[in-house]
Amino acid sequence: MNSSRIGRSRTNNDGRRIERRTFLSVVGAGGAALLTRGLNAEQRTLARKPNVIIIVADDLGYADVGFNGCTDIPTPNLDSLAQNGVRFAEGYVTCPICSPSRAGLLTGRYQQRFGHEFNPSLETEAEAFGMPLDQITIAAMLKNAEYATGMVGKWHLGLKPEYHPLRRGFQEFYGFLQGAHSYVNLRKTDRYPILRGTEPIDEPEYLTDAFTREAVAFIDRHSTDPFFLYLTYNAVHTPMQAPQKYLDRFPNIAQTKRRTYAAMLSAMDDGIGAVLRKLRDNGLDQDTMIFFFSDNGGPIYVNSSSNLPLNGAKGTVYEGGIRVPFLFQWQRRLPRGTVYKNPVSTLDIFATVAAAAGAEVPRDRKMDGVNLMPYLLGWKRTQPHEILFWRVGDMNAVRKGNWKLARKGNALVFLFDLATDMGEQKNLAKERPDILRELNAAFKAWDAELVPPLWFPAPPKPAPSAPAP
Ligand code: CA
Repeated sequence: MNSSRIGRSRTNNDGRRIERRTFLSVVGAGGAALLTRGLNAEQRTLARKPNVIIIVADDLGYADVGFNGCTDIPTPNLDSLAQNGVRFAEGYVTCPICSPSRAGLLTGRYQQRFGHEFNPSLETEAEAFGMPLDQITIAAMLKNAEYATGMVGKWHLGLKPEYHPLRRGFQEFYGFLQGAHSYVNLRKTDRYPILRGTEPIDEPEYLTDAFTREAVAFIDRHSTDPFFLYLTYNAVHTPMQAPQKYLDRFPNIAQTKRRTYAAMLSAMDDGIGAVLRKLRDNGLDQDTMIFFFSDNGGPIYVNSSSNLPLNGAKGTVYEGGIRVPFLFQWQRRLPRGTVYKNPVSTLDIFATVAAAAGAEVPRDRKMDGVNLMPYLLGWKRTQPHEILFWRVGDMNAVRKGNWKLARKGNALVFLFDLATDMGEQKNLAKERPDILRELNAAFKAWDAELVPPLWFPAPPKPAPSAPAP
């Protein structure tokens, strides 16, 4: 018996495919052990598919985690992920706003390839908006590879039934569909209720705690499966709401909004601690790939987050909008407590997971991520990405080597050397026209591969006292 088949679907005597869970219940644990007899411990480990957990924070600042130097808000559980895994010093999302960033993550493709360039407006969210149905999610890929797939948290990739997570590769869903949500007073009669599957429910707990409860229960339910859990906290996105027990942890933060932010973040960090504990208790901590990142940079004035020393914030293509706290722990395979310095992207999660799971990557379309494992293990010394791109309407950016082009329209053009100017303070556009030309040309070539946006954000509201043009 080929050991690499363990954990995948099998064929029974009359040729029908049976699920792994069914298979295990048929052969029992003893039967499963027979299949690995003769293999050494290393071979048995390699035969086992890793579990995958992707944890996404919402609007978390680059500087607001212990592993990036935060001092006023302890994040011991996130820090433990960094201590037991890899911290990406230059980890990027594909967009400085929520929905497109998630579309890039889940498909492993620049989301502008399929028109998912903007957040929806209030009008389009109810109508046209949704991640195009011909896009294959990481959940669908893993489900096809016999993983149990579940999502807990914020979706923000379509409200209509055909865009629901249960139709996009997830077998279980607990959370909400739109871009933001209250954390308290959650009633099934609300306009946008919390859903279990497709069923509105009353949720008595603080939403962050409820997401943790559901994530832990998912892990318990699927401890004998290979599983994929997509855990997308809406913390620390607005509305700024936190129970007293978390607020009480921060008597020394005087500013009310920052204190609430700290409490919301602390609740999420507790939740991640509960997930890690459950993995340990169930003997899964070695063989679970865990990714953590924020879907975009902190909107510093909105939720009192900090991206320092990075420039800019959510909604900009400065580093503060797109470079995020980003971790990857896989204790069985990755060195602990290391920092990987070359730029990586959330686009890479798809390819990295696919390779580890032995899953099939779509071959009929351009994929934009790379399997990071050979780089993280030191087998490949080159950069995972020669070049990275961003586009949100008339804002765009290019990262190549240490050079960063950031532009809004034709008027605002910035060229930075990130090696000496991480905070993007010195515009070298005039001094280095050669680099500017090179990055411009590369951007144009990439831009030509993209399609127009499928929907647009709400136009900015005119100021009430604005004079007529
Ligand atoms: Ca966000």
